[in-house]
Order: sequence, then structure tokens, then C-alpha cells
Amino acid sequence: MFLLESISWKEANDYFKNNDIVILPIGSTEQHGPHNPLGTDFLIAEELAKELSKRTNLLVLPTVPYGVSFHHSNFPGTISIDEEIFTQYVYNIVKSLKKYGINKILIINGHGGNYYPLLRVSRLARMELNMIVYIFQWWTALAGKISIFSKEEEGHAGAMETSLIAYFKPGMVNMLNCEDEKSVMKEINKASRYVFTDEITSNGVFGKSCSASREKGLIVMEKAIEMLLHMVEHLKNIKIE
Ligand SMILES: [Zn+2]
Repeated sequence: MFLLESISWKEANDYFKNNDIVILPIGSTEQHGPHNPLGTDFLIAEELAKELSKRTNLLVLPTVPYGVSFHHSNFPGTISIDEEIFTQYVYNIVKSLKKYGINKILIINGHGGNYYPLLRVSRLARMELNMIVYIFQWWTALAGKISIFSKEEEGHAGAMETSLIAYFKPGMVNMLNCEDEKSVMKEINKASRYVFTDEITSNGVFGKSCSASREKGLIVMEKAIEMLLHMVEHLKNIKIE
């Protein structure tokens, strides 16, 4: 496992001479129901990144622990960063790496609210810096691909995500407090508007969560890493003019 925070600039320099790919975990600090830690999204992204590094020797950057989470802000402890500030913050991380010869960045994103800003980072990196920035979201990559989970177990703080955080951080998940979704309103999907999550769910869970287990989390982790290993092979083969 290779972490930027643990090596000197000399060791970083050696890495940059021989590699043009790094991994950047990004998440959020936000509510994940009454049973999961507020750090769920960034902890999952960080642990997946570490696991991928163990198997590829790719360098992992320190995790970005905050994201765009205003929709969860009525649940205490949620921290939110404005889209524009978040975009510029992540873009500055990307830009810093260009100087050292890094051309390809694999972002492991743990939080859906970060997606559009990260896509903008990817566009800016491509247009301004001629860099490739991929955004990997484990739950979108795995949606419908693990037969032990139904669709209603794949939502925010649902059984799939709860299993994964329980696998990585068993001491932080308290299944005695687990509740499946307590709906307060169903959205009409003919048009879109900004919704706070407490308008939809009273406990912060989307769908079913209490069927989660560490054993299921191991299956999710292995499948996510399998996909990430394919991503790395793909990245290695991309030629940048
Ligand atoms: Zn999450």
C-alpha cells in the first residue's frame, strides 16, 4: 500500500518518475441513517483506494472528506461544501499533480452529490491540462450486479452500503439502531426540483438496510475491486498525445 501522506518528497519523486497514474478518494461527511457513521462515504472511498493500492502499487492521495451534501443538512452532523468551491478545490489537487508528470487520475467517489462537480473537474482537466480524470462510483458500477441485493437495498444507507461500511469499519456500525426507510413523502418524478432528504425519509435511509452484514460487505468489496482493477488496466493503456 502506497500513501502520499506516508512518504517523503524523494519517494514521491521516484514514484512520479515511473508512474503517471494516482488514486484520489473523495467522499462526504453526512448522515447515513441511525446506524451508520457520518463518515461512511469518505471511509468507503478511502478503504477501496487502499485495497486497490495493495493490489496495484498505485499511489493514493489523502482523502477529501467533505462533499456537496446540502440535501442531507437537516440531519445533524452533515457538512456541506458549495459546488463551486468543491470543484475548484478538487481541480487544484489535480492541477498540483500535473507539475509532477501525473496525467491520469482515478477518483474513487463515495458520494453521489459530488458527481456533477467532479464531472466538471474532469472536463477542466481534459481541456486545460490534457489530463484524464476518471470518476468511479462503486454503487453505480455495482447497481444490479450483485444478486444478493434487491433494488431497494441499493439506496443511500441501504443494505449494500451498510454491508460495505460494516465490512471496513465494524465498530462504527450499530445494527441495533438499524431501521429500514420510514417514508414521509413520495416525489412525483415528472419534473425535478431540489429536495431535502428529510422530506422523503424520516430516518435518513433510502430503502431497506437491516438485511446488511459484514459477510455481504466482503462480496461488495471484492466486486468493486475487480471493477477497479479493470479500470486501472484501461487507464494504463490510454495514450496521451
Ligand atoms: Zn453514502
